[in-house]
Parts: sequence; structure tokens; C-alpha cells
Amino acid sequence: MRVELILLALSPIFFVFIVFEFIKFRRYYEVKDSLANTMLALMHQLSDALSVLLLLPFFYWLHQYSLFSIDLNPFTIFIAFILQDFLYYWFHRASHHIHWFWAAHVVHHSSKNMNFTTAFRQSIFYPVVGMWLFWLPMIIIGFEPRFMIMVVGINLAYQFFIHTQIVGRLGWLEYLFNTPSHHRVHHAINKGYIDKNFAGVLIVWDKLFGTFAQERDKDQNQYGIMGDCDSTNPWTISVMQWRIMLTQFNSATHLKEKLKVVFGYPSHLVKTKNKKSMYKPRPDR
Ligand SMILES: [Zn+2]
Ligand SMILES: [Zn+2]
Repeated sequence: MRVELILLALSPIFFVFIVFEFIKFRRYYEVKDSLANTMLALMHQLSDALSVLLLLPFFYWLHQYSLFSIDLNPFTIFIAFILQDFLYYWFHRASHHIHWFWAAHVVHHSSKNMNFTTAFRQSIFYPVVGMWLFWLPMIIIGFEPRFMIMVVGINLAYQFFIHTQIVGRLGWLEYLFNTPSHHRVHHAINKGYIDKNFAGVLIVWDKLFGTFAQERDKDQNQYGIMGDCDSTNPWTISVMQWRIMLTQFNSATHLKEKLKVVFGYPSHLVKTKNKKSMYKPRPDR
């Protein structure tokens, strides 16, 4: 099996969970929203597979210069998972703090619903913004590129299961792992929840680096982004933030301002003039 297809291979399991949740907890679903999520997942898988195809030669070229030659054994595999999860934390934190990365990541946050299909809601532009840059340290240290891609895939597969409202807290697991409760906080825009809980698998990174927030009451959670995305058209959802960024970039007069639009926090220096915009920018904090 090609390792980049790991998420596709797991799709029958995802499907069973979605069907169960849909039947038992119909109130968490809007059919149009879930269909958009599924379309976005397929588009994302396609762009991801294509980018792996294009990037693999570069990864293997880089691998020749790696610092160590790492043989896979239970210990090194364990280290690889911890390291990749640590890198994921920083990728995810950057995705919320740097407009360039947020332009892709906003897709994942733009639904007002929270169910297993929300995990599918991903951007086709992750390869363009450079999500893969964050995994390069693994290759430089000495992990084999295909193994690295598999570790990334397993981390993302785990995250499917934390997109749900059907479970509350999970006892001692809450201390160590990213759980549905922690990830609901990440998707909610209630006071004190924005830009919190960036973890992939281990919640310890948020606790270590000061971005952890505990869920207060799951029934009070409001999901989505500041401002609304009312579209259920996968392409419109995929490009909405790029449009805003472009408008802001063009409106900015100085180079410093333009750079701030692209690489600064995605709060807004210039209001979008596009009246048809589906999405109102997040206000300054
Ligand atoms: Zn996020
Ligand atoms: Zn999520």
C-alpha cells in the first residue's frame, strides 16, 4: 500500500462512525454541510496525493544529507510519533497566527457544525502554503520520507475521532491526549476558547506552551469562525480567505503593510471591500 493513501484506506472505518453518529445524533448534522465536507475531503486527498508525488524526490534528495541514519525499532518509532506530534503542534499554531497558513486552515474551522464529517473539511491549499515544511526536520534528523508520511497520516487519522459532540470527558485520558472535549474547545469561538488547544494527539504541548483551555460546558459551545461562512460550495469555501487576503494586500500601501497582511496575525488591517464576500474577517483581539 502506498503510505500516502493511508487515510483513504481507513475510510470504511470513518464511514461507519459517521453513519452511527448521523442516525443517533441527527441534530448535529446539516446534510448540505456534511456533503460539502465530504467533497472537500476528496479534493484535499487529491491535492495531497499529487503533492506527495511531486515532493518525494525532494524529500529523498534531502534525506541523503540527514544527520543520523535511523533504523526503525520500537524505540525510534515511538520517538518519531512524539516528534511529529510536536511538529504538528507548531504547524497548527502557525496556521492560526500567520495569515498565509490561516488562508488554508480556515476551511477546517468555517463550519458551524461539529461532527465526524467536520474532520473531513480540509483545504486543497495545504501543499501550496507549505504544511510539508513542518515535517522536514524529521527527514533532516534521519527518518525515511515514506515512513515520515505514514506517521503524519496516522496523526491525522487519530484526529478524525476527536471531531464529535457525542462524548463528554474521558477520565485520565484528558490529561495526556487530545480528546473530543479538548478539540471542541479548539473549534469553538466562545470567550477564552479562540486559538487554544492546537494539539494533534498529545494535549501536553498546549499545557507546556500555554495554549490550553478546558471545556466549560459542551452544550454552550458555538462553533465556526468570527464572522460567518454561509457558503456550502467547496470551491467558494476553499478560496474565501485567499480573496480577502488579496483584497487586503492590494489595499495596503506600503511594503511593510503588505507583508503584515500575508505573514501577520489574520486580524484585519484593511476592511474587505468585497460586498459579496461570504466571510467577514475576524475582528482584532
Ligand atoms: Zn485549527
Ligand atoms: Zn478540527
